[in-house]
Amino acid sequence: MAPVLIPTVEPTAAAPTAGLDHWRSLAISQQPSWQDSSVYADSIRELSSLPPLVFAGEVDVLRERLASAAQGKAFLLQGGDCAETFEGATADRISARVKTILQMAVVLTYGASLPVIKMGRMAGQFAKPRSSNDETRGGVTLPAYRGDMVNGYPFTPETRGHDASRMVKAYHTSASTLNLIRAFTQGGFADLRLVHHWNKGFTANPAHSRYESTAREIDRAVRFMEACGADFEALKRVEFFASHEALLLDYERALTRIDSRTSLPYDTSAHFLWIGERTRDIDSAHIDFLSRVRNPIGVKLGPSTSGADALALIDKLDPNREPGRLTFITRMGAGNIREKLPPLIEKVTASGAQVLWVTDPMHGNTVTSPNGYKTRNFDDVMDEVRGFFEVHQSLGTFPGGIHVEMTGDDVAECLGGADPVDQESFLERYESVCDPRLNHMQSLEMAFLVAGELSKR
Ligand code: PEP
Ligand code: MN
Repeated sequence: MAPVLIPTVEPTAAAPTAGLDHWRSLAISQQPSWQDSSVYADSIRELSSLPPLVFAGEVDVLRERLASAAQGKAFLLQGGDCAETFEGATADRISARVKTILQMAVVLTYGASLPVIKMGRMAGQFAKPRSSNDETRGGVTLPAYRGDMVNGYPFTPETRGHDASRMVKAYHTSASTLNLIRAFTQGGFADLRLVHHWNKGFTANPAHSRYESTAREIDRAVRFMEACGADFEALKRVEFFASHEALLLDYERALTRIDSRTSLPYDTSAHFLWIGERTRDIDSAHIDFLSRVRNPIGVKLGPSTSGADALALIDKLDPNREPGRLTFITRMGAGNIREKLPPLIEKVTASGAQVLWVTDPMHGNTVTSPNGYKTRNFDDVMDEVRGFFEVHQSLGTFPGGIHVEMTGDDVAECLGGADPVDQESFLERYESVCDPRLNHMQSLEMAFLVAGELSKR
């Protein structure tokens, strides 16, 4: 009998997990102060042994899709709540949001004559950065709400404490949300003809009559496809990707797994992860950790971003200049974008790097309404979107997508729109626990307006 050769495994610095914990030695902001260290240890142990929420193969597909958007051959639609809540993870609300994203996507696909990549700020958007650690109400000061993954929204000492077991609940809520999204988008719910039929309800509202002609054109296109014998069966299933801000690195690290095919680390909490405006410092723990996982990564860029900052982020997050790896999500504000965005794009283009440029027209346009609510004007949001298109048009680069805070429900949180929301309706229908979202109608209206911009190209 031939001797059995036992391969020796040498510990090496190139081990797949090497460096995944380096962030722990770096400056880190916006992290919770967990109250109970044994609950924390148990929660991390549990998260580390739970199954992945997404698979490496799906993440690789998304990277390819984003690469094609970076080349001007697809458009990204990324949308969802500012902060998901455990309580809000009901079948009705999840399906309304997915439905609205699918409705927007049909309109955008028509406007762009390009595939639209559909991505939810969903199934994991449970942790929020805050400008202040505390909140004071009526002389009482408590820790600020940091998302359901950290603490609860009700203003009591018990709920505002930072409870690490909430990370496990966030995992399970993400799993059930994702399960429903997969069922909807793979099980016939996404049928193009059905989605188009829902859009007819939107244009039936007299306030939206100006969008009727586009809806009619889409109708004709669908009937043309039908007449040509298009395979509508295949159009019943759509790809839908999950994303969230990678804020709580304990959670992201615990869900990072080594893919058996490639031996590379993937953060399996979502397909796409982004780094927020407040945590994108080049030497930060967040940048370091995300530089080491294979997922496509986004970075929010606010008006203070310099060209040098953008280039440093590219060097750190996309050293191999891999198509689809890096998305810059600019959130400049309507009054800034026409001035602040061009120098960034020019610097990046001159460096030879190819990133996907996406606009977040929400976060640079937050104001307080006269009656005291955090809100955004629909017109400001659209002005930033138009500025984004203008700037890319003038520089010959591709405006590759939109990132919006939206919901499928009839809330009143942002002002304006063709069927206008006014501040009085906030008293009854303001539901967000964080930033104001476009409601169902405002989201569809935005899609029609963006489709108009896309069709000019
Ligand atoms: C957000 O996306 O909810 C957010 C906090 O954005 P930004 O990091 O751009 O401020
Ligand atoms: Mn927000």
